[in-house]
Amino acid sequence: MAKQKFIVVGAGPVGSLAALYAANRGHKVKIYELRSDLRDPSTTPLNFTKSINLALSERGINAMRHAGSKALLDHVMMSTIPMSGRMIHGQRPSGELYEEPQLYDVHGRDIYAADRAELNKALLDILEKMPNVKFYFNHKLTGADFKRKVAWFEVQNSEKSSSKSSAGRAKEVEVSFDFMLGADGAHSSVRYHLMKYTQMDYQQEYIDTLWCEFQISPNRRRKSEHPMERFLISPYHLHIWPGKQFMFIAIPSEDGSFTCTLFMPSANYAYLEADTSKLPSFFDHHFPGVTSLIPPKELIASFETNPHLPLISIKCKPYHHSDSVVILGDAAHAMVPFYGQGMNAGLEDVRTLFALLDKHEATEESNDPTNPAPADPAVQRSAALAEYSAVRAPDAHAINDLALQNYVEMRDSVLSPTYRLRKALEEW
Ligand code: FAD
Repeated sequence: MAKQKFIVVGAGPVGSLAALYAANRGHKVKIYELRSDLRDPSTTPLNFTKSINLALSERGINAMRHAGSKALLDHVMMSTIPMSGRMIHGQRPSGELYEEPQLYDVHGRDIYAADRAELNKALLDILEKMPNVKFYFNHKLTGADFKRKVAWFEVQNSEKSSSKSSAGRAKEVEVSFDFMLGADGAHSSVRYHLMKYTQMDYQQEYIDTLWCEFQISPNRRRKSEHPMERFLISPYHLHIWPGKQFMFIAIPSEDGSFTCTLFMPSANYAYLEADTSKLPSFFDHHFPGVTSLIPPKELIASFETNPHLPLISIKCKPYHHSDSVVILGDAAHAMVPFYGQGMNAGLEDVRTLFALLDKHEATEESNDPTNPAPADPAVQRSAALAEYSAVRAPDAHAINDLALQNYVEMRDSVLSPTYRLRKALEEW
């Protein structure tokens, strides 16, 4: 296929991986990103917190394995921590605290704790070295014409300068393209413009749960050189304090700390926001043991400083228009985080999409021996995108549903005796 002008909107994990797949096929790739370069320390991280630590699973790993860059997977996996299962924390009627490990997989396979920002940076570092890739940071997509294949971006002042002065006016640039890949997250502007060109079914739902980030610091008393001994609790598990209506979780980080998240209905947040001094006793009652890992002062400081953010679940279809645009990742199927699959599914979108683009390129070229004219890339891509929407939407919708269901499992079902007996039998 003649090499084409691809533009990727959004340099998050999914957009960056899509750019890598496209660049490895020789296309000219331009990446437009609303924020400044993530690798610049002054860039405000997504969601305004230090960083999300997330669970990377085979779905996402496999997509990176097929990206055509061995360095990527080596680099990403080097700084992950294998988690063999979850560790349920609770308190017996006697007052004794307990920990109960539950394996994720009877065959002993792990999922991995990964730092989303580090994974994203690894991708940007690889892309930066490719001669056919160009970055445009501080560029916000504001409009697109998917018939004429032109898009408009507002060029923003960098976050550093705009915070000091609002004197600089944003200017707009017009960009033409052959193919746009929209990976601009849950509030996708590409999706918004795509809706004007395709009869998109769209459904969004905010669940009545907010999340806030906390931190368990490394074990400062332990002098050992071995990094794994710097953890206060097992680094090989995703820790859960189920609270029936809410839950607190902790995922290990390489430096010995844990990134923790409190998931809770908005009414409970409002109750604690009104008087944050109630937080430690609330934790002692619902998440026993946490205040011995996070001192009450730090607990209150994190609750007061870190944002209390909503959770959205989005389903839509189709994901494309003609041969000119497709949406991927959260832009196509933002999901609640309880199945640990949002990013993993987004990375899998990329692998699935490029497998179909490759397949249609190969089939259309060899299909018609009577017609010597070279295959039209637009026709090939149109067919590939139609197949992509058809096969991917049911899978993405299923993962969205599983993610919603898994919240009940994590915060409540893991406590039921029947569930624990079934799990024990499975492991036996
Ligand atoms: P994003 O990461 O949202 O990136 C979109 C990019 O597009 C951003 O850089 C943004 O600045 C840019 N952008 C937005 N608008 C524009 C515009 N108009 N023009 C140009 N650029 C634009 N997933 C997992 O797989 N495992 C987990 O364990 C997990 N845990 C999670 C825990 C929490 C608390 C949350 C909130 C999410 C979790 N996720 C998890 C989900 C995961 O974070 C997302 O699915 C993933 O980040 C989506 O990647 P993305 O690249 O599609 O979108």
